[in-house]
Amino acid sequence: MSQISPQQQHIISSLSLTLSINSLMDLLNNAQPSSWSDDALVAILEATNACYRAGYPLVDDAFYDHHLLSALQDRQPDHPFLLKVEPEVISGKTVTLPQKMLSTDKAYSIAEIEKWVTRIKKAADELNIAHSEVYIRITPKLDGYAAFDDGKTLYTRGDGVRGQDITRAFTRGLAVANQGERGLGPGEIVISKQYFNAHLAEQFENSRNIQAAIIAEKNIEPSVVKAIADEACVFYPFALLPHWTGLIDVLAQDIEAQIEPIWQAVDYDIDGVILETTHSEIKNHMGATRHHHRWQIAFKVNDESAEVEVLNVTPQTSRTGRVSPVAELVPTKLSGATISRATVHHYKMVQTNGVGPGAIVQLVRSGLVIPKIEKVITSVTPQLPETCPSCHSHVIWEADHLICPNKSDCPAQRENTLVHFFKTLGNNDGFGPKVVEKLCQNGVQHIHDIYAIEPSELIGWGFGEKTAFNLIEQLNVSRTIAIEDWRFLAAFGVTRLGGGNGEKLLQHHTLPDLFDLTVDAMVEIDGFAQLSAEAIVEGLANVKDEFFKVYQLGFNLIPTPKLADSDLADSVLFGQQIVFTGSMTSGSRSEMEKHAKSLGAKVGKSVSGNTTYLITGEKVGANKINAAKDKGVTVLTESEYLAMIS
Ligand SMILES: [Zn+2]
Repeated sequence: MSQISPQQQHIISSLSLTLSINSLMDLLNNAQPSSWSDDALVAILEATNACYRAGYPLVDDAFYDHHLLSALQDRQPDHPFLLKVEPEVISGKTVTLPQKMLSTDKAYSIAEIEKWVTRIKKAADELNIAHSEVYIRITPKLDGYAAFDDGKTLYTRGDGVRGQDITRAFTRGLAVANQGERGLGPGEIVISKQYFNAHLAEQFENSRNIQAAIIAEKNIEPSVVKAIADEACVFYPFALLPHWTGLIDVLAQDIEAQIEPIWQAVDYDIDGVILETTHSEIKNHMGATRHHHRWQIAFKVNDESAEVEVLNVTPQTSRTGRVSPVAELVPTKLSGATISRATVHHYKMVQTNGVGPGAIVQLVRSGLVIPKIEKVITSVTPQLPETCPSCHSHVIWEADHLICPNKSDCPAQRENTLVHFFKTLGNNDGFGPKVVEKLCQNGVQHIHDIYAIEPSELIGWGFGEKTAFNLIEQLNVSRTIAIEDWRFLAAFGVTRLGGGNGEKLLQHHTLPDLFDLTVDAMVEIDGFAQLSAEAIVEGLANVKDEFFKVYQLGFNLIPTPKLADSDLADSVLFGQQIVFTGSMTSGSRSEMEKHAKSLGAKVGKSVSGNTTYLITGEKVGANKINAAKDKGVTVLTESEYLAMIS
């Protein structure tokens, strides 16, 4: 804790607390919360919370959660402050939210997550739901400005029941993330970290100040206007977040492994990950306290950091050919583990920041994530490789990365591709880097080669008899233990086709059909932009031969449920034929068509006898409307339509 800024002073003095600002700062700086009176504790909670909400945090999050909030929870579990949902301090009139917005219960250890998993399983048992039907979704916990979008109005979260109308953020051009639609409910206003650091960090102390500016009534700074236009600031509906979704039993096997990638999934500030069950019966059964949903939990961790000396920077070639700098470090203890190596972001960072033997770097471990080098404290002459450590091809720069251009014959790329396959399947054991390296040394190149190996060959290559038979057995296991088809697809390592996107495609098409999908057809699916679609179509074409060689060996694949079969069956648009005509005001016509399709509608271009609804935008002639009515079509205005689907 430190000095108080004029902004913080202003925020606190507007709260009319029972404590003067001076005595408040005195307590914060000099005394333990345990020695404070209840009144002082509440006053300090009010003050720190208000400063945090306004973008001028007074204490760090962990101190707030661990020392302030938890002290009050211990002393007075029913104190009204604990029932308020992190209220924002904006003056002005409030309106009732279309839906209650609760906050999320927090866990700070894997053990707490395990307990939550047990509670979900218990609820499933009480409802006689098999664990093989219980899925958990993990998403990043965005650290932005919480809001709710009902398609017409954007609301602040307020006290969770009543919020304020901040639709002006959309009027100012704020886009929905992921080319999403309006009306997707709860989300957060967030700012790209990269963009903030490149364009806004000099003018603003932190991204919270910008979030506050976007929704403020007064005029906003040109730099923020530009950030909105550049879509660096967006409203990110939770429904569109990248996610891991899998069976509760798969999660329970290795919670850390499933959580870890989500920490890196977005270029926005996040302060944890959120786990929730997607099973609606379980959700209903578990319900909510006044404060949070019981079927959802946030996992948060405190960052730990240390300054460490670099011994060496070693290049490592990945599956995709990217050569990554790995810093060998003087062994250092961090968050309970001894760390002796860490990945530097990329070779551009090695080059520009001077990372080499003798450099001092700041190592940060955020949660369970592998520690990363955040900052170089003392630089030296950088250590850059000229050739790929595996195949000795000359490396080339591609943006910030050095890459090995040898796509066809680089042992490291080949080995990592094979390791990635078996690791991603996740239903077998034995094909780690060491084994795969040995296989490759003996001429194995492709996944299908591995499935053709005989035990006698393995023994001839120096594997013990027991190991050889075990490896063959594991190949059988990998084909017989059921896995989701999207996981099988992800194992082939196509760029942008990790679990999330693969699952989305498989909600609409069968696995073999994906290889015939055109870019146009892919863009039709909600969530795929032109560039991603192009990259995915190209990537699929590259692995097509190998994919079918492996696929025809017969794996026990669980097909992804088709959207139209299940989730959409109760959508009002499910199976309906609709036609949009005229110009729409709440989004472009193609956006609205895409959205309608995502709700299970069949969208046509012209009215026929099969059409259910004609949705009319502006400037539609009476003839067209009457002709549709003659065919028995229900004609709706845009706002009637939006009301119907909301
Ligand atoms: Zn290479």
